[in-house]
Amino acid sequence: MRGMIHVYTGNGKGKTTAAFGLATRAAGHGKRVLFAQFLKGGRGESGEVRAGHASSLKMTVIRFAEVHPRFDPTVDREELARKVQADFGQVWQEIFKDTYDLVVLDEVDNCVSQGLLPLQRLLDLLEEKPERLELVLTGRGADPRVIEKADYVTEMRKIKHPAETEGTPARKGIEF
Ligand code: ATP
Ligand code: MG
Repeated sequence: MRGMIHVYTGNGKGKTTAAFGLATRAAGHGKRVLFAQFLKGGRGESGEVRAGHASSLKMTVIRFAEVHPRFDPTVDREELARKVQADFGQVWQEIFKDTYDLVVLDEVDNCVSQGLLPLQRLLDLLEEKPERLELVLTGRGADPRVIEKADYVTEMRKIKHPAETEGTPARKGIEF
């Protein structure tokens, strides 16, 4: 059966956690899962990495250490783009070993919208991915050409968020 492409985008909470929920569900049925997180640096270990280590499911969690420009506006963008593209290359190689049933590229849409990863590289992956692979992309600002190629597209729309209404800082176990 053809593996499909999922996109979780939009400015509301729930993209990464929806992707992680789907990944866990797939692994629960014995599927081999790779959950790769881009631009997650500077915040300590994510709950996803911990859950991956603690779990006996066939789920590998990779978390790249580069910091999102939203959290570090002073970052050298050329250097960051080189690193992000190397990260993407590493995941690309993993994908084409063809050992996974489901792969999540968490925050990859941000990598594109921030100009750190050429859109064409992501489109090439969507085009060339192993036929049976189920692929999940998350991040704000998914490009219309990515949306066009995807089978499932869900927009998380923010109605309220305590970071804005109360200035609540990111909470461990809830936001990361
Ligand atoms: P989650 O990881 O909780 O599923 P997400 O992947 O949809 O959320 P991102 O856009 O990746 O969200 O942002 C990472 C975290 O930043 C989210 O947990 C979100 O709650 C938090 N956040 C901080 N400030 C805001 C804000 N002003 N509006 C929305 N989200 C915010
Ligand atoms: Mg996210």
